[in-house]
Amino acid sequence: MSSVDTPMFQQYLALKAQQPGCLLFFRMGDFYELFFEDAVTASRELELTLTTRNKGDPDAIPMAGVPHHAAAGYLERLTAAGYRVAIADQIEDPALAKGLVARAIVRVVTPGVVNDASTLDARRPNYVVGLAAGPEALGLAYVDVSTGELCATTVRTLDELVAEVHRVEPVEALLSPELRGEARLTAAFKRHRTLVSEAPDAAWTVTGAQEEVQHVFGRDVSLDAADPALLAVAAVLAYGRAMSGSELRNIHELRRYAAQRFMVVDDATTRHLEIFRTQIEGRRKGSLIGLLDRCATAMGSRRLREWLRFPLLDPDAIRGRSAAVEAWVDEPACRDDVRTLLREVADVERIGARVAQGTAHARDLAGLRRSLIAAVQLRERLSGHPSLSGRLAADLCEDVRADLERWLADDPPATLTDGGVLRRDANAELDELITISVEGVGIIARVEEREREATGISSLKIRRNKVFGYFIEITRAHMHRVPDRYLRKQTLSNAERYITIELKELEEKVLGADERRKQLEYALFVELRDRVAQASRRLSALASSLAELDGLVALAEVAVRQRWVRPQLDDSERLAITAGRHPVVEAMLTEERFVPNDVTLDADGRQLIVLTGPNMAGKSTVMRQTGLIVLLAQIGSFVPADAAQIGVCDRIFTRVGAADDLSSGQSTFMVEMAETATILRHATRRSLVLLDEIGRGTSTYDGLSIAWAVGEDLAARVGCRGIFATHYHELCELEDAVAGVVNQSVAVSEWEDRIVFLRQLKDGGASRSYGIQCAQLAGMPPHVVTRARALLTHFEKHAPRNAQAQLSLFGAVPAQPSAEPEAAAPDPMRGAVAALNPDALSPREALDALYRLRALL
Ligand code: ADP
Repeated sequence: MSSVDTPMFQQYLALKAQQPGCLLFFRMGDFYELFFEDAVTASRELELTLTTRNKGDPDAIPMAGVPHHAAAGYLERLTAAGYRVAIADQIEDPALAKGLVARAIVRVVTPGVVNDASTLDARRPNYVVGLAAGPEALGLAYVDVSTGELCATTVRTLDELVAEVHRVEPVEALLSPELRGEARLTAAFKRHRTLVSEAPDAAWTVTGAQEEVQHVFGRDVSLDAADPALLAVAAVLAYGRAMSGSELRNIHELRRYAAQRFMVVDDATTRHLEIFRTQIEGRRKGSLIGLLDRCATAMGSRRLREWLRFPLLDPDAIRGRSAAVEAWVDEPACRDDVRTLLREVADVERIGARVAQGTAHARDLAGLRRSLIAAVQLRERLSGHPSLSGRLAADLCEDVRADLERWLADDPPATLTDGGVLRRDANAELDELITISVEGVGIIARVEEREREATGISSLKIRRNKVFGYFIEITRAHMHRVPDRYLRKQTLSNAERYITIELKELEEKVLGADERRKQLEYALFVELRDRVAQASRRLSALASSLAELDGLVALAEVAVRQRWVRPQLDDSERLAITAGRHPVVEAMLTEERFVPNDVTLDADGRQLIVLTGPNMAGKSTVMRQTGLIVLLAQIGSFVPADAAQIGVCDRIFTRVGAADDLSSGQSTFMVEMAETATILRHATRRSLVLLDEIGRGTSTYDGLSIAWAVGEDLAARVGCRGIFATHYHELCELEDAVAGVVNQSVAVSEWEDRIVFLRQLKDGGASRSYGIQCAQLAGMPPHVVTRARALLTHFEKHAPRNAQAQLSLFGAVPAQPSAEPEAAAPDPMRGAVAALNPDALSPREALDALYRLRALL
């Protein structure tokens, strides 16, 4: 019989078939074992030793295992690498099993369905998104199983759906059959490393979906049968329940949102403005949220992130939030105290989820107790401050706190089954058992003392092991003194072990009490946890209010520390920033002082700034800071400026930097053109458009023409507010050609042939590009700089000052003064070939270069 035919492997294969897309962790004794392909995969991902089961068997089975007590860490690594893992546990006591132990899959751990604190990033939500197509609309829902947050929206177009997917940044996605394989969704999932999974089929039918929602909520939620959001909601719920093996009793509410009520910050802009991570290194430090997140709790950090994902459009709503921030700015003493108290608050949302799903341990409840005590102190501190206290929930769940205070030990252990979890005085029966088991140890010590005296054997010891319980151990040398009432139990090489009737009676009482104590204590703990779970909805509401409070206090704290001001928000089409700064660049500068700049835009007359200035002058910084100030203003934050008036923007579009997206395999020029096309298609009069160096990746003529046409279209047709940074000085002529376009430049001055950056924005275009000075600053060897200067003088004298000049660089080039007298005269052909950098050429440029070389011949 081959190994696979054994009953155990039949059981294994049957379980494996239940969850085909998963690695199977198969519990055997103290290990979770993996077999076949799973073993190979796990040994590679987790650096486990790959062995085989039934060595010597011609078709031995590959095997790898992890100790069950260390499973969490391995699960974390597997889910982080995008795997799902099904956990098959023994569901009967192996000691009592007749034959093969029964096993079942108790849950599936997937990147989106986890709720243990060690696996999750505390400051980020963990979303599973569901997407469904209806006849006329598209539905999206997302759930964070670890907190119970559930949201849904309905949109009309695929564009909008993709935008929402970027907003959600899901770790896992479920697609209705019509949407599977949709290229633009696939690209979005690739961007966020989203694992695409499958929801139970029934969720994608209206009846199945209605049943699912009814099952979780116990009532109807306001979702129309015709609305595809219903299917999306059902999909995430059904998937969450199936994977977690829990009823998700911590989900109490469905929040419906209308995407058009929030600003769209698309994926490119999120990256360019470095909102959540830096563009090149992908780190949180150095991003906007890295600066902004001064929250004391993980819940506050997640709330702040949500605000950044959902900037507001309604000036009243924005003013509501910024007024709350201002109230905290104005009360520094109270703010300090509240921050101190908030540091006592644990992650009540995620603890609440574990409580409701029955996985919370005693330390979770201790964290909850600490938080509930802090909540009461917060209310006391805020009394007399009506402007600050409004956000704290009225219901502080004081009954739950009292229950926890009465039952839970002060500093409970991490495990639930070894006792010590509950207070001594909580329950009379438990107390008695504890007394017996604790005192029993003392009684046995007294027996030991008494027996030593009675026998005269000073080395006599009473010991205990699992097999015999308590016994008396006497070394061989003293055996002749052993009294008759001792009953021999076991002979060792140099000692004998005995029991007595008294000892056995005592043992039963003591060990029995200890065992019963652990069982009772566990049962009482579970009762306590279940009672807390009854308050799940109220705890969620309280947690949400604490998150809100923390987020507002954090925004106030940053505002004060960084000297930000409260902006004026309105429905106008103006943008007037006085002395604006880039929040992150400013915070990073150590030696230089950040030079503030004014930016004024107005869709009525001063729409588009054409921004010129040499490389490194600060063009891109001005653009990014403008975008960030608008974003901050619309989440209700203060902004880095002396004053700001901001007419609400519906979208911020950016096209910044050329270095990005090397990884996607697309040419930089194509990415740039695709992003620019998106902007022209979607920008409205209310949008803010920030474009940097459009048309750089192609030949000069092409680039200039594209840049001109884009600028013209933005100003003349779209009518949005925008800044257009360019190195094409020719674009300054747009000012005269198109109404609403103005020239500005970042000032530099020259000093002894060197360039000094003033970082100051001034009216009018830049007069020169200072490319050579920049090259010198960048460390170009002096002889090359000298040579470049000579060439420049020549070109300026001989070539017509227009774009054409730049194209005919290979005209009559002045000879290079030779360092070595016998050097041959420069060969223009050689020079031209040597000057080519094939790696930096677009296909188009390469073709142009070929034509030029042919012309040279
Ligand atoms: P450009 O886009 O013109 O090439 P950047 O905006 O990238 O230039 O600015 C280059 C560097 O100059 C920035 O990394 C920053 O360190 C510094 N810088 C830019 N603007 C300012 C400013 N207003 N004050 C101080 N330093 C600045």
